Amino acid sequence: MTTSHPASSSDVVIVGAGPVGLLLAILLGKGGKSVTIVEKWPDIYDRPRAVTMDAEVARILATLGIDCDTDPAFENHKELYYWKNADLEDLQIVDWESLAPCGWHVTYWFNQPELEARLITMAKTIPSVTLLRGWTAIGLTQDDDGATLTIEDTATQSLVRSLRGQFVVGADGANSFVRDQLDLKVIDKGYFFDWLILDMVPHGDYRTSPAQWQLCDPKRPTTIVPGGPGRRRWEFMVLPSEDPVAIAQPESAWRLLEPWGLSPENATLERSAVYRFQARWAEHWVSGRCMIAGDAAHLMPPFAGEGMCAGLRDAVALAWRLSAILDHTLPVDLLKSYESERISHARHYIQFSQDLGEIICIVDPEEAAKRDARMMAELADRDHKPITGDLVKLGPGIWCAETPSAGELSPQGLVLHNGRTDRFDQAVGQGWFVLALNHPDGTVLSPAQAAMFSRLGGRVVSVGPEGSGCDVTTLDTTYADWATETGASYAILRPDFYVAATAPDTTALAGCLSRLFEALGLAALPD
Ligand SMILES: Cc1cc2nc3c(=O)[nH]c(=O)nc-3n(C[C@H](O)[C@H](O)[C@H](O)COP(=O)(O)OP(=O)(O)OC[C@H]3O[C@@H](n4cnc5c(N)ncnc54)[C@H](O)[C@@H]3O)c2cc1C
Repeated sequence: MTTSHPASSSDVVIVGAGPVGLLLAILLGKGGKSVTIVEKWPDIYDRPRAVTMDAEVARILATLGIDCDTDPAFENHKELYYWKNADLEDLQIVDWESLAPCGWHVTYWFNQPELEARLITMAKTIPSVTLLRGWTAIGLTQDDDGATLTIEDTATQSLVRSLRGQFVVGADGANSFVRDQLDLKVIDKGYFFDWLILDMVPHGDYRTSPAQWQLCDPKRPTTIVPGGPGRRRWEFMVLPSEDPVAIAQPESAWRLLEPWGLSPENATLERSAVYRFQARWAEHWVSGRCMIAGDAAHLMPPFAGEGMCAGLRDAVALAWRLSAILDHTLPVDLLKSYESERISHARHYIQFSQDLGEIICIVDPEEAAKRDARMMAELADRDHKPITGDLVKLGPGIWCAETPSAGELSPQGLVLHNGRTDRFDQAVGQGWFVLALNHPDGTVLSPAQAAMFSRLGGRVVSVGPEGSGCDVTTLDTTYADWATETGASYAILRPDFYVAATAPDTTALAGCLSRLFEALGLAALPD
């Protein structure tokens, strides 16, 4: 028999307590919004998935108080990332050792279940966040004011509850129920390869040289990378002639690990699973009061280690928008820019990941030989210099496309502010900023624009070296270099750290702000 509970209501109901749903809940909850997260399973999904994340995600986690440079759950090998052929000759070298312009290292290594456990603990400390584990979303309806989610207890399917939210977010993974209910079409690139993923815990100090690399051997394409502190990750391509179920068995896994010097005597096989790597995305991410994020919205093969990173960016992009809409600062129409900005950005990484996959997933020896010759020639042409990742622009949305750097993640330097020496985000804060680059005069906005900007919680802050009279003292040349590169004296930053505009003078700044206020729908709201 089915028992029904009365509907409970929150500002936002989130389906799925993976990393994306959890981050969104924390960000909204920290801003005082009431959030209910519904998760199908009683325990954390303990299969081998993300092990690497980029500098932007380190910057995001830092806002939660997780410092990936010092926290023991993260490691950074400060080494290059190599792609090698079967003869161990270099095909590609990627710079994974430098500091990214946003102030964090290009790459960190971690363990996804551990990160999820951290986020759950954090979410539980926020009084306005309720986590319902062991409940499955089974129904979704919406009207002009919100949406109603029906859930049932996963174990017995004998209890049914209704949850009402002003907004419902589907962060419910690749087989998203919310996406299906909203009838959001998925564009599939028809790309798939099966890979065996093994998370290993070596008993002693186990190192490979290099620490992070791809073996592009057509006999067995293999990924060899760290898996977070104390762990190593191997990924073996399942060959077309092989049975994915048989290869995932422990005996078969140990056979594959033998050439790497690992056996049950010196290592523990912590997790093993075969995944089908795919490349696809939903054509639309928002429908009325409901939306999707993370793997529900986009799926990419993990060769670039960007799937979760893209999802966490979705969470940040949604958090500031939903907060402002719930505060009645910005109109609900703002959600259109979540879709237009994020789809384009995620598609870049889907394509990039697919391109990487097409390099490594070659099992034909002749094709592999051609690839090797081409890539080695290209590498020689650039004197074996490592490649660095470009800053990826958002799709069209809340930024002034004609201004340099706009639509990109903002750079971040080390600063001194109010006696604290730290990265800008930690020393000064996060939100809307007009940065005056080495211009100490704080009165750069007209009274009308200043009033509008403060409705967004925006702050005008000048940054410059010691003795410049600026509000914030720069301790490196990040902001000065940025000003030189862009010709900007002013920059407008958004709460997700993206650059909304740069401007050479106050007249241009005023023009950019007017356009941004209009794009945000700020002018249209009553005071
Ligand atoms: C082998 C592999 C390696 C990877 N490596 C990396 C990497 O190195 N770096 C990286 O950035 N990414 C990586 N990824 C991708 C990363 O793991 C995912 O992008 C990430 O887990 C997506 O998070 P999510 O919160 O969107 O979805 P999920 O983690 O899938 O969470 C969705 C949650 O929703 C719940 N749910 C589903 N349906 C319902 C329902 N009806 N009701 C209630 N709850 C529901 C599920 O139980 C689940 O807990 C890798 C993936 C794989 C497979």
